[in-house]
Amino acid sequence: PLSPQPNPEVGAAVKAADRAHVFHSWSAQELIDPLAVAGAEGSYFWDYDGRRYLDFASGLVYTNIGYQHPKVVAAIQEQAARLATFAPAFALEARSEAARLIAERTPGDLDKIFFTNGGADAVEHAVRMARLHTGRPKVLSAYRSYHGGTQQAVNITGDPRRWPSDNGTSGVVHFWAPFLYRSRFYAETEEQECARALEHLETTIAFEGPSSIAAIILETIPGTAGIMVPPPGYLAGVRELCDKYGIVFVLDEVMAGFGRTGEWFAAQLFDVVPDLMTFAKGVNSGYVPLGGVAISGKIAETFGKRAYPGGLTYSGHPLACAAAVATINVMAEEGVVENARRLGAEVVEPALRELAERHSSVGDVRGVGMFWALELVKDRETREPLVPYNAAGEANAPMAAFAAAAKANGLWPFVNMNRTHVVPPCNVTEAELKEGLAALDAALSVADEYTK
Ligand code: PLP
Repeated sequence: PLSPQPNPEVGAAVKAADRAHVFHSWSAQELIDPLAVAGAEGSYFWDYDGRRYLDFASGLVYTNIGYQHPKVVAAIQEQAARLATFAPAFALEARSEAARLIAERTPGDLDKIFFTNGGADAVEHAVRMARLHTGRPKVLSAYRSYHGGTQQAVNITGDPRRWPSDNGTSGVVHFWAPFLYRSRFYAETEEQECARALEHLETTIAFEGPSSIAAIILETIPGTAGIMVPPPGYLAGVRELCDKYGIVFVLDEVMAGFGRTGEWFAAQLFDVVPDLMTFAKGVNSGYVPLGGVAISGKIAETFGKRAYPGGLTYSGHPLACAAAVATINVMAEEGVVENARRLGAEVVEPALRELAERHSSVGDVRGVGMFWALELVKDRETREPLVPYNAAGEANAPMAAFAAAAKANGLWPFVNMNRTHVVPPCNVTEAELKEGLAALDAALSVADEYTK
């Protein structure tokens, strides 16, 4: 029900137990104040005080078909009643069907699916496969990226805020990928940015030694780090460099995959086929933890007669796979990918560009489908961010005020550093988008007060 009965007493008890016993991710435990959530449906969730929020963050950018889709809930219930769990080394109906549906949608010959429990372990395994396939140690990944919180995935992540203090030699080398708004290459056009970024990458390969590099891993469109859509030709250029030097090309589609960009996979926007592709999140709208690696024929062959040294107890868990089968079928039947493409182009993009004209705090608008970022700045001329890198406390006041204003207007925003991302469920309706965009408009007026 979208008008739940408020129950503040239960909410207070939930909050108290959380504060006493739950240790939260990426947080100083005493400085956080998590909202107690009572329920969710479609694009909305609500708290125990009866406040309802339109979720423009899709959780952590994963509820691609919204909350509590009845067909997915039913599929999980049916699977639980029939066969709630089974070990990995067996052929199971839900697992086989999920793999088939995924392989049918991935580009090129990415036809074998290794299932994991989420995105980070998908990245771990993709990198392991690349190292074993090539016999080489190093991995190149981009600054301004996010690849997950486990040891190797967090080292690959191109964001020093995420690196644990035990971060050390890991065989990971970072490079700059294209991002015209904050160009590292003194570029003025997308063409220059693309050409110089590719030149920089090839120079990095040369100085690191091509025969030492197992993989280049990129998010097809970097998500958490700011939704920087790569210029035309960049990913095709990376593909060429990988072919030239015998390097495995890994695309991380954990966030960009499964309809987010208005294609099943973002790689299809750019007509590129990687050797390995990671996925998670949207594969089953996050109803049960699931991720995986889609593997090309060439790499699958390496492990034809030779055992792959890696696995997980819950690889291809029946509940997660049943949820994936139901989710993919819902996406196909209800035209969810097309919805993201059409409403992204017809509603979100024009509305965000119009907001950028009226609000002095909006420095840049970028994205595609249901995958958009607004970069907030103090000064549009100098592009000085509205808050400094890794700001906390008082230094982060402008973004905190922006987020509070959005929430006061019933909008749950995705906020990261000086950005807000517009990443609603891919099956969001036009009316919901308009409601959220109006609340965003009001919240940006608060951000404007902090501009020069
Ligand atoms: N890769 C990308 C591109 C992601 O966006 C994320 C999570 O946000 C991950 C990997 C890690 O996924 P998980 O949190 O499921 O481990």
